[in-house]
Amino acid sequence: MSMTADIFRLVLGLLFGMLVPRIPLLFFTRFLNLERGLHPHPDPTPVDVPLIQRMRLMRRVHGMGWILAILPLGLGLFVLRVSPQSFAFGLVAGVAWFAISRIVPQDVEMGLGIIPMSLVREVNNLRQIQSPCCDRPFLQWEVRAVRCRFCRAVHLSTPRPDLGRLRSDGWLIGAFRILLADGRSIFPLTESVELGGEVGEEE
Ligand SMILES: [Zn+2]
Repeated sequence: MSMTADIFRLVLGLLFGMLVPRIPLLFFTRFLNLERGLHPHPDPTPVDVPLIQRMRLMRRVHGMGWILAILPLGLGLFVLRVSPQSFAFGLVAGVAWFAISRIVPQDVEMGLGIIPMSLVREVNNLRQIQSPCCDRPFLQWEVRAVRCRFCRAVHLSTPRPDLGRLRSDGWLIGAFRILLADGRSIFPLTESVELGGEVGEEE
């Protein structure tokens, strides 16, 4: 067996191992067209019950990834027990990569996962505005923060994760972006958000 063929199989296995656990994230909500109650991508999402339901659903979708990860991991380990195949090694390494990217939190205080339960609670609490920012507060989750539509006050400076809506940038580019960011926002978690200026509406 040539070295090139071995490397090709290793990379192929690696890609499968990384891709299979992310199948639910790519297809589950989008393929089933579960768009009810949500504004189309990439519009800001009002902070309301459908948003909270969608965040809970996305948590389950992320959870499904762990179940699907068993397939390439199991197959890889099974083959490796019999013979040292490079494809099987790639599968195991790909799943390990997936696991590490999920386990390492973006912010330790926020909790684990792409959409931690603490974030769901935080956004849910914003539905009852304690101290109104203006006469007619209307909170919506924009790309980089939860802000009031009218006075632009920032209520939560957390970038919006992927909410599983049908992508406006097309299936292929959208899927590529989701895979790169793993469903997180492409923007870093910041303590404060610049108030001025509009940013491009991308998740
Ligand atoms: Zn306001």
